[in-house]
Amino acid sequence: MNEKPEKLIDKKGLRLDSRKHDQLRQVKLEVGVIPNADGSAYIEWGKNKILVGVYGPREAHPKHLALQDRLVLKCRYHMAPFSVQERKSPAPSRREVELSKVIRESLEPAIFMDLYPRTMIDLTIEVLQADGGTRCASITAASLALADSGIPMRDLVVACAAGKADDTIVLDLMDEEDKLGTADVPVALMPSLNAVTLLQMDGKLSQEEFKSAVNLAIDGCKQIYAMQKEALKAKYAGVKEEAEE
Ligand code: ADP
Repeated sequence: MNEKPEKLIDKKGLRLDSRKHDQLRQVKLEVGVIPNADGSAYIEWGKNKILVGVYGPREAHPKHLALQDRLVLKCRYHMAPFSVQERKSPAPSRREVELSKVIRESLEPAIFMDLYPRTMIDLTIEVLQADGGTRCASITAASLALADSGIPMRDLVVACAAGKADDTIVLDLMDEEDKLGTADVPVALMPSLNAVTLLQMDGKLSQEEFKSAVNLAIDGCKQIYAMQKEALKAKYAGVKEEAEE
């Protein structure tokens, strides 16, 4: 960002990228983009570009990490040095370690972990370009990559944030709104089970504002859930036709 904008929302109620307060950025999802991985997905969400690969389940390594009664999900969220305007060090930052944990914990409830004792799944998330909301985009793409790997799941996990820009509760904050806005509430959801697997809040909101932000984020999740299912169908409808031929 070169210059700090005076207002995040103009007189007509439109945001810096001309979105309405309850409008998502453009989302594009693709499944099965890395043939060498057991499951993979690619997401473009606004200017975010994120690639996710799943490897496993395989024998846990190192062995002492294995659990006798369940699978171990190892998750690595990493931002490429060129993913933000100023070069980011390729070494894992404190933020990346925290996001790896948060993303893992929002996905684990969806996986039947106890079906795969003593094994491990490696989930690798590469943020190629970041524009705010990368944790939500990562969770959304990672659950698709897990589904693509064939691991049994209770539901897909989908995530979306809402927050406060100027005095308005807005859906899906982009980088400027994330940095200059007053609050950010990321929510992850298993929509068919109506179960929230992640709820965070950064900033300050009144109780009423918090409620409307969570409800708006859940609406956003539901819209993206439909796109997730379409992305899976786009790959697997073709596979079914091939099998029937
Ligand atoms: P999220 O991406 O989930 O919103 P944060 O709120 O921590 O996570 O980060 C918000 C945004 O800040 C990121 O999406 C990215 O665009 C930007 N950002 C994060 N780390 C850096 C960094 N090291 N340098 C520049 N921008 C960054």
